[in-house]
Amino acid sequence: MTELDCIDCRVSHPWRGSVAVRVESLFAAALIALSLTIPAVAQAPPAPSARFVVVLDAAHGGNDAGGTLASQDGNSQPEKAYTLALSVRLRSLLAARGIYVVTTRESDATIDNDTRSATANHANARACLSLHASESGSGIHLFVSSLPPTEPTRLNPWKTAQAAWITRSLALAGMVNSALTHAGMTVTLGRTALPVIDSMTCPAVAVEVAPEITSGNAQPTDVADTGYQTRVAEALAAAIVEWRSDSRAEGTLP
Ligand SMILES: [Zn+2]
Repeated sequence: MTELDCIDCRVSHPWRGSVAVRVESLFAAALIALSLTIPAVAQAPPAPSARFVVVLDAAHGGNDAGGTLASQDGNSQPEKAYTLALSVRLRSLLAARGIYVVTTRESDATIDNDTRSATANHANARACLSLHASESGSGIHLFVSSLPPTEPTRLNPWKTAQAAWITRSLALAGMVNSALTHAGMTVTLGRTALPVIDSMTCPAVAVEVAPEITSGNAQPTDVADTGYQTRVAEALAAAIVEWRSDSRAEGTLP
């Protein structure tokens, strides 16, 4: 995987120098059923929602394949396929626990960053997980936006709307970290520029799944390993369930 494989995001590469190649999508807005106008500001939701909504953002898709995930059996798959599969799996686990899930894509569609952010903001989400994968590194990498925290206001600049939610995003990352660690996974926490999350007005964390290195196994477990993916999804679902029961998930303002 080269530095440019995981395009349109910095999630996969912060430890290699933040290479970010922005690819403007040509077909984005038409592919989502919402008629969304991207505003210059992200308006804070007017009132708390009675429903606990979680947004799952399967990164990449359509024209943007993301990175390439090789496996030991010689097969490889694009990152966009893995993130969609993980999103579908996690959605069903959350739905089985009575959690309402909104996804940014349900198919191999090209969705631009602003549309993903707007989907989360319109959903009045209590949490958003943006899902990535990489064949580089090991374990699970969690990223929170590197925007400096600010006080919440009614109108937040679109490009930096996440700044008012940083504290709660860090709390959400801590909860996800606990669940993954409890499930026996190695977790790395980081902060970086996240174009999709930076415009979100909700607690949001980018989750990047990398091969699992376990003691006693000479070879790391591929990202695409079904059992590994299941364990990651179950741990993420456990984190969201815990987040729902946590007071920090209450309300819609940070
Ligand atoms: Zn990615």
